[in-house]
Amino acid sequence: MTTGLPDEEFRSEDQVDTGKFSLVAQELFNHQIKNWKLAADGYQSLSAVHIKKFKFDNFSIEAHFNPGRIISSSAKVDAKSISERPCFLCKENLPYDQKAVKINENYILLVNPYPIFNTHFTIPSVNHVPQLILSEMGNMLSISKMLGKNYSVFYNGPECGASAPDHLHIQAGDFGFMKIDTEHESMARAYGKTVYQENDLKTTAVQGCLRNYFSVESEDKTKLTAEFQKIFYALQNGKSRLEPMMNIICNYNSRWRLLIFPRSNHRPGYFYEEGENNILVSPAAVDLGGVMIFPRDKDFSKISAELIKDIFMQVTLSGARFGAVADKLGNR
Ligand SMILES: [Zn+2]
Repeated sequence: MTTGLPDEEFRSEDQVDTGKFSLVAQELFNHQIKNWKLAADGYQSLSAVHIKKFKFDNFSIEAHFNPGRIISSSAKVDAKSISERPCFLCKENLPYDQKAVKINENYILLVNPYPIFNTHFTIPSVNHVPQLILSEMGNMLSISKMLGKNYSVFYNGPECGASAPDHLHIQAGDFGFMKIDTEHESMARAYGKTVYQENDLKTTAVQGCLRNYFSVESEDKTKLTAEFQKIFYALQNGKSRLEPMMNIICNYNSRWRLLIFPRSNHRPGYFYEEGENNILVSPAAVDLGGVMIFPRDKDFSKISAELIKDIFMQVTLSGARFGAVADKLGNR
C-alpha cells in the first residue's frame, strides 16, 4: 500500500519511543486533510458541532450535535446487511485518496473522514477478521503506547457501537476530548473501590456515576493483559456469547490506564421507537467516555440530564450485576 508519505513501512513498539508514532500519525492526518476532500470537509464540519454541557456530582457529560455521524449511528450491523456491503476497512475497498500507514504487522492507521475528535483515527486489522478484543489486548496496549499520552485509544464491541463488527478495528482520538479522560481520577476517588492490587497493578470498580466501569492501571503489559482476561471471563460468566458486551478506553502516560465499560444492551429503547419518541443514539466508547453523539438536531434539542441518565441505564450493566462481577474479581 502506498502512503504518499515518507516511507516508514514497518514499526513496532520496540523500534519506536513512547509517543513518537504520534508524529507519524499527525503527518498522515495533515496529508489527508490537504489531499482528500471527504476528510477535509469532515474536519471542517466539526466547527459547526453544537454542544450542551451537563454537570453531575464529580463528573460531567456533554451532548454533541454532529450530523456527520449519521452513517455510524444508524449503521445496520445485522449479519445480512453486513454480508451485503463491501467492507470499508478492507484495504482493497479504501477510497483512492485514503492513505494508510502501517503501525505493526497487524494494524494500519487511517484518518477517519467522519470525525468526532479534532484528530480521529481508525485503526483496522490488516486482515478481515471479526471484531473481538480478547486476543488483541496486547496490540491495543502497544498501539496506545506508540501514540502516547496525547491520544486515547478505544474499542467498541461488535454489538456496542462498532459500525464494522466483521472487521477488527480500534480507534484513537485526542486525549482530553472525552470528559472521562480527565475526570476519571476524581470519579474513582468519589465512586471507586479497589477490587484488586498487586505491586503496580491496580483494579478499581467505579460504581454510581451513570455507567459502572472498571479501571486497570499498570506499567506491566503482561500483567495488564492477564488482568483484562480475568475481567473478560468474569463478565462472560460461562455464557456462550463470544465476547461480553463492552467498550474500552485506553491511555498511556508512563503507565497504561484501561477503562472497561460492561454493557447490557446495544442501543436504548428510544432507538427502536417509532415517531416522536424515536431518538437516534447508538452509545459507544465515546458516549460512555462522557461525550454523547446526536446526529439529528431534533434529538439533540430534546436531550436532558434525565434522558442521559435513562439512556446510560438502559445500555450499561446494572449495579447488582456489576457489583457481582466486582465481588468475583475481588475474591482471589
Ligand atoms: Zn474488511
